[in-house]
Amino acid sequence: MALVEAIAKLRKALGSGNVLDKAGDVMLYEYDAGVDKGTPGAVVFPATTEDVSAIVKIAAAEGVSIVPRGAGTGLSGGSIARDGGIVLVFTRMNRILEIDLENQRATVQPGVVNLELSNAVEKHGLYFAPDPSSQKASTIGGNVGENSGGPHTLAHGVTVNHVTGLEVVLGDGRVAQFGGKSVDTCGYDMCGFFTGTEGTVGIVTKITVKLTRKAETIATLLAIYDTIDDGANTVVDITREGITPTALEMFDGLTLRTVEEATHAGYPMDAGAVLLIELEGLREAVEEQAEAVRRLCAVNGAREVRRAKDDAERALLWKGRKNAFAAIGRLAPSYYTQDGVVPRTKIPETLKFIAKVSEKYGMRIANIFHAGDGNMHPAILFDLRDPAQLEKTIAASGEILGYCVSVGGTITGEHGVGMEKDKLMPLLFTETDMDVMKSLREAFNPDSLFNPRKIFPTTRSCRETGAAAIPPELRKR
Ligand SMILES: Cc1cc2nc3c(=O)[nH]c(=O)nc-3n(C[C@H](O)[C@H](O)[C@H](O)COP(=O)(O)OP(=O)(O)OC[C@H]3O[C@@H](n4cnc5c(N)ncnc54)[C@H](O)[C@@H]3O)c2cc1C
Repeated sequence: MALVEAIAKLRKALGSGNVLDKAGDVMLYEYDAGVDKGTPGAVVFPATTEDVSAIVKIAAAEGVSIVPRGAGTGLSGGSIARDGGIVLVFTRMNRILEIDLENQRATVQPGVVNLELSNAVEKHGLYFAPDPSSQKASTIGGNVGENSGGPHTLAHGVTVNHVTGLEVVLGDGRVAQFGGKSVDTCGYDMCGFFTGTEGTVGIVTKITVKLTRKAETIATLLAIYDTIDDGANTVVDITREGITPTALEMFDGLTLRTVEEATHAGYPMDAGAVLLIELEGLREAVEEQAEAVRRLCAVNGAREVRRAKDDAERALLWKGRKNAFAAIGRLAPSYYTQDGVVPRTKIPETLKFIAKVSEKYGMRIANIFHAGDGNMHPAILFDLRDPAQLEKTIAASGEILGYCVSVGGTITGEHGVGMEKDKLMPLLFTETDMDVMKSLREAFNPDSLFNPRKIFPTTRSCRETGAAAIPPELRKR
């Protein structure tokens, strides 16, 4: 009844055209890019901060939950209404509100698509540095929700490093402003706190971000290897030499062949692995580093190192990377992308472990990942229509994530915890650690109506997941 009441009030406040509740309409919002599902009771489309505040007040009065949603490209079920309730979609709050060239800042509504901001400032020699591979579709609000990274995280950092101001609607409908255009503010670092909270503590309605100036020179190299081990060892050597490429991406043989067939980016069809390496900065420094990188690739057995001749060739190499997951879709009816992080030096052995898991479960696994960050993205190929395969896939991915934790890594680098990995949180946090985080959630959102049952486990067991494979001494509890 509460939902029925809430829908009637929402229609009155926003107009009927901005509220969906028919089964055929709301089912379009029951999934994201991961494997989980949940059907919302209603979907609403605010146009202003005042609309968002009104929606939150109605939901709070009726005790109905709210799940914020950008483009729904998340991979951990973050924007899925796990318990029904209202999904609040930012499609209509998609305006760039201000571009301040002198101060290198932009203020945007949360529904602005990531790449559109870079496109809007390109003619001024600027861009928005966080560039998830989903940047053609994902929204800046969603990037803030997940604290997204991407291929250029190695040098430029994740979304939080680029957010200087946030407007947030709190659990009682009040609107708070944190930060602004300057980097240093006094008081608590609230922009840092809200970024990455996956819609559980507040709804972001305005975002001020840094704009980054394009480098004088960019060198994009493709190093080609017969074995994946040689590629992995090169990653360790490059960073050991104190070189920080802006991107250091790795593809295994299965992935690069699939990507090449789909995008014709110019990758070799017969290689065991490739590294896509990008260096940027002042011309002399970039040339010096490019030579050093070439040498390290050769020392580690690269059979060839190509350098993009111009912007067109560079764009083509990146087209392969940015469309890689779409290309992997050609290999099987479904794939499950994992997001485990390991210390860089553990990449070679983690790839070996992933190969063993692939053999153990009899499932093919494609690897393409942010090697420089140690952020592994094994994509397990399976058929979602077959429940037994789904079960095996989840067990295999749990084993991989468990391994990442066991070598000093973590369960997510950039895709968030959402409803996918809540049960794995005890691998990293004690009850006390999680109590502290939960008390923050309650301070902002006392009835937990924002994105309920996300991030924190509702059961105390990680037995249902493959993470049970982790030795007990490595678990926090
Ligand atoms: C092919 C592919 C490649 C990808 N590559 C990358 C990558 O390189 N790096 C990376 O980090 N991710 C990547 N992702 C995952 C995903 O695109 C990112 O997490 C992205 O930031 C999600 O944005 P979205 O607009 O789709 O948000 P959604 O999926 O709609 O939401 C994500 C989370 O943010 C919350 N949220 C959304 N809007 C708001 C708001 N206004 N206020 C508060 N909370 C909000 C939601 O509740 C949810 O918890 C990829 C996904 C795909 C499908």
